[in-house]
Amino acid sequence: MKALERLLQRLPLSHLKIIDIRTQLETISAGFNGETRVDQIMQEIQFDIPFFYFPNFECELSPTRFSQLDSVLLTNRYLLLIEIKNMRGELHFNEQPYQLIQDIEGKKGAYHCPQMQLLRAADTVEHWLNCMELPKLPIYKIIVMPNSRTIIKTAPTKVPLIMSKQVALYIQKLNKLPAVINENQFLELSDAIITGNKPFKQKSLCEKYHIPKEHIKNGVICHCGASGIRISERTWHCPTCKCAIPNAIEQTIQDWFWICGEVVTIKEFMDFLQCNSRNLVARTLNNSNLIALGNTKSRRFLYNHRVPIFNK
Ligand SMILES: [Zn+2]
Repeated sequence: MKALERLLQRLPLSHLKIIDIRTQLETISAGFNGETRVDQIMQEIQFDIPFFYFPNFECELSPTRFSQLDSVLLTNRYLLLIEIKNMRGELHFNEQPYQLIQDIEGKKGAYHCPQMQLLRAADTVEHWLNCMELPKLPIYKIIVMPNSRTIIKTAPTKVPLIMSKQVALYIQKLNKLPAVINENQFLELSDAIITGNKPFKQKSLCEKYHIPKEHIKNGVICHCGASGIRISERTWHCPTCKCAIPNAIEQTIQDWFWICGEVVTIKEFMDFLQCNSRNLVARTLNNSNLIALGNTKSRRFLYNHRVPIFNK
């Protein structure tokens, strides 16, 4: 989300993709708020059985089967697959074909159907559980609506749709089911999910939105969108805000990896930062948590999604 905001600041105001990116940002921020609300509800539920909650479940269950869901709850009694749809207006969960139609004051939009997504994920997970040769753990699926003002015009028929306030009751009811696997089997299963659950491999935003790198503004860019002016070795000043831009170099490196690509060389970053001090750039990159590849002369730096670029 922060990455999209930075992309907007680095595109010229007249750029063709600006409207697309603003719309995307609104959709993500609505979804993000919904997911945080469901994660909070999960924390408030009292569990007296073994459980593991995986928000942003992105699991490679086999080389050819990959499952991506908003959340998954694993217990020793059942597995619950959850899709969260934080959408405004009127919704139609159509089934022929499977499609989610949103209607906001007569303006219609079509989306992937969360129902279909859950049915496919359940199939993948079931297949994977069978391969693990454990007792058959029942799989439940729900679509959660965090926005109580959403109007459901056509309800889904294959997967229950519940409001976020009902989630706790729904789960407490499932928790009364009999235990299916023992403690060791539960640990084996949670370990297998933790190992397979990896952050989705991310594309740079230029790649994702088909924006040529030449369209991106170089230099240090303030949060207000203005280009910073270098006033000392590590300090850039914003002519609009009339103050120093905090963590100017660090933010610019972060922008590169969010917006431009997975790898950077010292020369490329000198151009992006618009700074001719090779020493400063080399020192900053060498002191980061980026993965250095190759020797000093042709050294490239690779982004590691699992850790922040700089220690605080
Ligand atoms: Zn500024």
